[in-house]
Amino acid sequence: MKALVLKEYGRFIVEDVPRPRLQPDEALVRVRACGICGSDVHGMDGSTGRRIPPLIMGHEGAGEITEVGPAVKGWKPKDRVTFDSTIYCGRCWHCLRGEVNLCDERRVLGVSCAEFRRDGAFAEFVAVPARILYRLPDSLSFEQAAMVEAVSVAAHAVKRTPLEAGASVAVLGAGMIGSLVIQVLKAAGCRRVIALDLDGDRLELALRLGATAAARADSPGLAATIRRFSHERGVDAAFDVVGLATTVAAAVGLVRKGGSVTLVGNAEPRADLPLQAVVTRQVTLIGTCASAGEYPACLELIASGRVNVTEFISATPPLEEGAEWFGRLHAREKGLMKVLLKP
Ligand SMILES: [Zn+2]
Ligand SMILES: [Zn+2]
Repeated sequence: MKALVLKEYGRFIVEDVPRPRLQPDEALVRVRACGICGSDVHGMDGSTGRRIPPLIMGHEGAGEITEVGPAVKGWKPKDRVTFDSTIYCGRCWHCLRGEVNLCDERRVLGVSCAEFRRDGAFAEFVAVPARILYRLPDSLSFEQAAMVEAVSVAAHAVKRTPLEAGASVAVLGAGMIGSLVIQVLKAAGCRRVIALDLDGDRLELALRLGATAAARADSPGLAATIRRFSHERGVDAAFDVVGLATTVAAAVGLVRKGGSVTLVGNAEPRADLPLQAVVTRQVTLIGTCASAGEYPACLELIASGRVNVTEFISATPPLEEGAEWFGRLHAREKGLMKVLLKP
């Protein structure tokens, strides 16, 4: 089969490789679309240590089943599917509590690091355990389905956040995940969501996708805007979808006493914390990672049109152009959001 192989850091080749051998509990999926994730782009140059070559990357895929192992029940060839990017064990203490994103044996498709290596979906075929498969609603395209991982990250962050009826919410960072957080909040019935970013185009997009207000994060009038937006109290909840010391501090400063800050982004591994403000204003800090069981609801949100993912799909090139598009993403070409490769 054809596959886009990371041969060494920064160098890809499309080459013929053997099809994956199926374990008894796995299904073989003919990949129709697979998204290039930010973690793939950061990983390709060796900076994260989680894409050790040679490797077939790709964990945001969708396609149809062509073959199932003898132990697989409930799935058959031609089923249209997507799959969790996390392969969880289903047996450890966290998995048994439904916290599959925290699985002790967690592996990610298309990742190779010191602990494991698992080829991913930038290839004609990928093998995945049947327990991580999800059926696609008929109306959903493979391209839309390949966006579900991003939606699930947003949905999990929203689920982790205590939100009372009528809550006011600020979202710091209106890129793709931030805009998805906004859409999921709106779908969950939240009517007061303000988007904050340094980029005017992103703020415009956030407004188009349902934010009720938008403001430049560096505008001198921001504090007054937030007070007006939140009954003079500060917002009930803030999402930091960036993850810099400055955005964490800003988020803490935007919430009311007793409010919460949900930490989604981690652009920097460490960030200074305004500890005294967190303690004395009794702010709840919430970490959130990947997703745990949100896929079916997210597939429905996309299929029903309540969450728009097509806005974020910048291009859908064939696998052969993978190296070029990785390069453009790595160079941070302006306006590029999600690129889906079509093997
Ligand atoms: Zn991803
Ligand atoms: Zn587990």
